[in-house]
Formats: sequence, C-alpha cells, structure tokens
Amino acid sequence: MTAQLPGPVIIAIANQKGGVGKTTTAINLGAALAEIDQQVLVIDLDPQGNASTGLGLPPDMRGRTTYDVLTDGVPLGEALQESCVRNLWVAPSTVDLSGADVELVDDPERAQRLSIALDSLVDAGTPGRFDFILIDCPPSLNLLTLNAMTAAHAVIVPLQCEFFALEGLSQLLNTVKLVQQRLNTDLKIHGIALTMFDQRNNLSGQVADDVRETLGDLVYRTVIPRNVRLSEAPSHAMPALLYDSACAGSQAYRNLAREVFDRGFLPNPAERALDVTQA
Ligand code: ATP
Ligand code: MG
Repeated sequence: MTAQLPGPVIIAIANQKGGVGKTTTAINLGAALAEIDQQVLVIDLDPQGNASTGLGLPPDMRGRTTYDVLTDGVPLGEALQESCVRNLWVAPSTVDLSGADVELVDDPERAQRLSIALDSLVDAGTPGRFDFILIDCPPSLNLLTLNAMTAAHAVIVPLQCEFFALEGLSQLLNTVKLVQQRLNTDLKIHGIALTMFDQRNNLSGQVADDVRETLGDLVYRTVIPRNVRLSEAPSHAMPALLYDSACAGSQAYRNLAREVFDRGFLPNPAERALDVTQA
C-alpha cells in the first residue's frame, strides 16, 4: 500500500487532562499505521518520556532529544531513532524538556520551534519518507502543546469514557481556535478517540453515547476498550501490537489506524468542532 498523500500528515495527540490515553494512542496508533506500511515518526513532546520508553528507548539510549531540538536548534534529523517497530521512528524526550517553557520565554518564535524543525526536516529530505508524524503532548495546554498544535495539520483528542469526559474539552477546543487565529490557520480537529471503554460498565456506554450526540462524526467509529494488555505493554518497552498482537486493544488500534488513514487530510472542518464549544 502506498500513501495517497503528498507529504507527512502531522497530528498532535492532545488533551490537557492527564491519563486519558494520549501516549497509548501515540504508540499504538503509530505502530498500527507502521503495520500498514506507513512510515511513521512519533515525536515525544512530553517530559515524562512515556512514548519513548513505550517504544523501546530507555533514558540512557535517547541521545539527542526534543529538548535539544526546541531549545538549542539541533536539527530534528539528529534526534531520530529507530524504534522497536519496523517503519516507526521516535524523536525521544527526557525530563529536561520540562525546562523548555522557561528557557524559551524570551524567544519570539517560541511557539514555532517544532514547526521550524519539521520544515527543515522535510527540506533536508532527511527522512522525507514519513507519511505520518504523531506528536505526543503533555497533559497541559502549555508551550509544548502550543508547539505541537502550531506544527500540526490536525489534532486527535483522546477522550476517556468516564464521567466528566467532556469537562475541559471546550478549553481544549478554544486553544485550538486560538492557535488557528494566531499561529496555524489551517489547524483542524482530525477526530476524537474514545478510550478505555469498559463494556461491563453502563457508564462507559452512556458517556460514549453522550459524546457522540454532542460531537457527531468528529468522533471516530472505533472505540478503544479498556484492555489490560495495553497497560502492560509499556513495561515490556513495546507497543501492544508487538506484545500481544491479537488482543482487543491491538485490534482496536488497527481499526483506528484505518480510520485515521482513510480520513487523511480531510477531517471535519474545525469550525464544526468549535461550534460545539458554544453549545
Ligand atoms: P499523561 O497525561 O500522563 O501523559 P496519557 O494521556 O498519555 O497520560 P496514557 O499514559 O496513555 O495516558 O494512559 C494512562 C494509563 O492508562 C497508563 O497506565 C496506560 O497504560 C493505561 N491505559 C491507557 N489506555 C488504556 C486502555 N485502553 N486500557 C487499559 N489501560 C489503558
Ligand atoms: Mg502521556
């Protein structure tokens, strides 16, 4: 299969709520896209470095990191490392990245640092080979998330199927709107991914129904189930797709990858999502 798209689709995986499945989605959606022969880069933009660990890069193997790229202008190409998955590369992070906000405070281009680094990666033709670039964001609407949204074509929002799932979503969508106005006019919402769906729990089903009613087809058809294999895989330093290829979580991320691939550059207009904030 070949990509139908002219250059990489750059997607920020963002939600300022902690523990909603951003990193699990970055790792396993990345692995699932790689499995269908897409060339994928995961950029770890979270100082926690969970995406780096979960893709087989322990801290002592990280070399150049996204911190060096953002604060020292190190070319992104120098930070790329092969992950444990074929076709999947990582730009790792370390805890140093938590200092980037403060270090960049006087830089007038501080929100564009990642975008500039990605432009020169593509210009250098280095791995002009990527079809998808997924950016794992920290649980905050801080400068790192702004960098991701400024560099991205679209945002995927993981939403945990629990009470208060929609809480904070309007703040997130307002940030997207702000980025559209000031930094990246073309930014779109690619889709909303329901995560940690628990079949045995009525609440999960109710929340999923509510979210679909509110957000319509912005929500991907695929629902990611709560699945213990997804949570075990990072401690084995690999995506669930390698750890247990047949588990329900791996299958769900394959289905999500198919939807993301098919949606390509043509997500729902962000305005639709933004209307929801006024609802
Ligand atoms: P943070 O905001 O801290 O970066 P996050 O949004 O990236 O968190 P994850 O790290 O992906 O969230 O997930 C939080 C925890 O839930 C992790 O322990 C992860 O292994 C687990 N988890 C994520 N998705 C699932 C799932 N579908 N089923 C079971 N466990 C999951
Ligand atoms: Mg995370």
